[in-house]
Amino acid sequence: MHLDASGHHSRTREIHDHCGLIGIYGEGNVADLIYYGLFALQHRGQEGAGMVLHNGTKTKVLRGLGLVAETFTAEARRQIDGYMGIGHNRYATTGKSTKLRNVQPILVDYKGGKLAIAHNGNLTNVHPLRARMEQEGSIFQTTTDSEVVLHLIARSRREALPDRAAEAVLQVEGALTCLIMDEHQLIGYRDPLGFRPLSIGRLNGMYVLASETCAFDLIGAEFIRDVEPGEMIVLSAAGLEARRLVPPPPPALCMFEQVYFARPDSVVFGEAVNDVRRAQGRLLARRHPAAADLVIAIPDSSNSAAHGFAEEAGLPFELGLIRNHYIGRTFIVAGESSRVDGVRVKFNPVSHILKDKRVVAVDDSIVRGTTSRKLVDLLFKAGAREVHFRVASPPITHPCYYGIDTPTRAELIANQQDVEGIRRFIGATSLGFLAREDLEASVRRPGDYCYACWSGRYPTRVPENGNSIPFDHD
Ligand code: SF4
Repeated sequence: MHLDASGHHSRTREIHDHCGLIGIYGEGNVADLIYYGLFALQHRGQEGAGMVLHNGTKTKVLRGLGLVAETFTAEARRQIDGYMGIGHNRYATTGKSTKLRNVQPILVDYKGGKLAIAHNGNLTNVHPLRARMEQEGSIFQTTTDSEVVLHLIARSRREALPDRAAEAVLQVEGALTCLIMDEHQLIGYRDPLGFRPLSIGRLNGMYVLASETCAFDLIGAEFIRDVEPGEMIVLSAAGLEARRLVPPPPPALCMFEQVYFARPDSVVFGEAVNDVRRAQGRLLARRHPAAADLVIAIPDSSNSAAHGFAEEAGLPFELGLIRNHYIGRTFIVAGESSRVDGVRVKFNPVSHILKDKRVVAVDDSIVRGTTSRKLVDLLFKAGAREVHFRVASPPITHPCYYGIDTPTRAELIANQQDVEGIRRFIGATSLGFLAREDLEASVRRPGDYCYACWSGRYPTRVPENGNSIPFDHD
């Protein structure tokens, strides 16, 4: 899957994650550390970024649209300081731009003082919760479901923030990995099914919570462990306190993190993402070999799987497509009539590598099929004799309700076509998808994962309208 119509510089995919999170508690340059942490997590959201810091007397927020480096200039970071803070990267809904008021963290005043939240995931019962609260007089400032959690915390009759937060998070269903902060403590929480990752690290006496371990690597923090599904971590002057809110059910870790979202240099859900993707590529090569001359990746998210494929197939891995990383946020590909296509802007085929070759092109997934079709066309135009398209995950047939912004069922090509139909649509010489059992075989604890976008078997109740959850959407 790849480029969206807007040509946004991001991974410009047809499927988007919503967020990257980082929280830091302790004496140090927290603003800079959050900045670098968000920078490392930029792939999880590029439409907006924000941070909230508390310094003992004041709580300040810094938020903006665009990339982390654009939003948090050195001058902006000098305006904000503190010994604890939370930060967030946000992705917008496909085709729509983010409004600044929806950029997180959200910071509000309530009777207990200042309260901030940053959230990754989507709640599946947010509509009835919000409707009930609005009927009872609550006023919402944003269209994010995080604000629903804030309201639930504010309405709690419990005293301490961890108790209030516990009461709130136990009322919601779906994917809720979040950071919550007041003027005294910073809380990290993962819902009982643990859809989205959150890890704990340590740096010079400070505690760090982050969506992915690549954030620890950049700031030099040491990885301690993952926050467990259903666990609340409370960071305060008393140190780190871990609370288990409910006996955890079997988890439903998002398999798409392993397939595409997470950075390959992260360790997610206890697995090195690069290793998982390499295994997927190897299994794909075993299941769907191709008589070919070389293997290329659709960069960057397919690099590890393509390496695995090449290794297993005994074929050379070549850089047959080069990705332009520098498409700015404001770069908009002109309309249909333009001779410059968004996919062409993003990927340059290397003709002298591809010419007259039988090419295996490995991608991580196919969503609508339109981008794969353009890529196949690019490769043929660059001189490839055959294009054997290999996909390192099974056909996506169902939308995600847990924080991944997928198209509707009708737009998912695998919902409409069988493999041969997809092959014809994308114009490849041959097409092979990773088998579901091979996807499971690529991780150590296959029973702990959610596979609903491939199977339609959702681990929670889902809204009845059957498509994705357009609540966190502008
Ligand atoms: Fe991840 Fe798919 Fe499950 Fe959504 S439905 S949480 S994308 S595995």
